[in-house]
Amino acid sequence: MIYLDNAATTKTAPEVVEAMLPYFTEHYGNPSTIYSLGGESKKAVTDAREIIAKSLGAKTEEIYFTAGGSEADNWALKATAEAYSNKGKHIITSKIEHHAILHTCEYLEKQGYEVTYLDVDRDGLINLEELKAAIRPDTILISIMFANNEIGTIEPIAEIGAIAKEKGILFHTDAVQAYGQLPINVDEMNIDMLSASGHKLNGPKGIGFLYIRKGVKSRSFIHGGAQERSRRAGTENVPGIVGLGAAADRAMRIMEEKTRKEIEVRDYLIKRIEDEIPYCWLNGHRTKRLPNNVNFSFLYIEGESMLIMLDMKGVCASSGSACTSGSLDPSHVLLGIGLKHEEAHGSLRLTLSEENTKEEMDFVVDNLKQIVARLRDMSPLYEDFLKSQQK
Ligand SMILES: *Cc1c(COP(=O)(O)O)cnc(C)c1O
Repeated sequence: MIYLDNAATTKTAPEVVEAMLPYFTEHYGNPSTIYSLGGESKKAVTDAREIIAKSLGAKTEEIYFTAGGSEADNWALKATAEAYSNKGKHIITSKIEHHAILHTCEYLEKQGYEVTYLDVDRDGLINLEELKAAIRPDTILISIMFANNEIGTIEPIAEIGAIAKEKGILFHTDAVQAYGQLPINVDEMNIDMLSASGHKLNGPKGIGFLYIRKGVKSRSFIHGGAQERSRRAGTENVPGIVGLGAAADRAMRIMEEKTRKEIEVRDYLIKRIEDEIPYCWLNGHRTKRLPNNVNFSFLYIEGESMLIMLDMKGVCASSGSACTSGSLDPSHVLLGIGLKHEEAHGSLRLTLSEENTKEEMDFVVDNLKQIVARLRDMSPLYEDFLKSQQK
């Protein structure tokens, strides 16, 4: 099997699993207790919080554990909207955010908030002048993702942070794809809140965190006990937190080497596809791009058919076509960068890990060439297109 869907989820690293195991067995104490069994759990949670804080240039008490990226995104938006509603009810985001942001914004619109959804260009970048122009006296929050999960484009985060700071507006970034893949410093980038998720960086599923800068007003997101500084109640997911800490530690340690390896294999894959498969193009920015992301549109192809045929060859991939998006419309991200519906339907996302090799990419491209040719052979539209080319 060749796993090329690391933007969907990653394999939990063996060292992460190993770090977690004792917290299911010997060290099962509740961190809130007095006796030493609970103390060990508490220490493990604190250690993980410290590792994560350090990785962002943040303070330990600014890291709040959540049940993943979606929860962190919901918290950042809903609790900030509530806490700052006296100042205003306007939020700025982009059209290509993850649904955890977009659907939360739609929910807030129903609660009387106004949301500006910034356009992006063909590469998926927001326009900083448009951002500035969208800011109003009642704007309370800017939420722009660090890097896009479909097309890999990296947004100008430090520039957005500078604008937000100058205008006195809070800046949240969904860094679920970026954290562990790209260097991040919340002070240098003027980030006030940041979401991340364990299972996107070789950690466990169902655990993530929200960074909230000290001084930012936020509301309790889960009501109950005093865990997470009374803002997110519930007995801590100790094994998950330990796993997230171990995954963060590992990610920071291997980042340089992983990035180097991935970019080499990524660019090799991009070049072979561009050179050898006709009527296709790369989606997303060519250089301001996650090291592991490849996203192509193939004309006259249905994404699902490609995925099914790749699966038969043992290749796991993803598409922005309608069926995989879970709705009648293809990916909002691909439509957001200006693709036509049929161009978005024919998209293929391949997201690598540091373990993938050029040999594997050769296997993928050799098969992909055949798959694309076979599917086009069956397409009456492609036949018409070829005829029109011959005229
Ligand atoms: C995966 C992802 C999420 C959701 O994270 P979960 O931990 O799966 O809830 C949010 N935003 C982005 C950009 C993602 O890639």
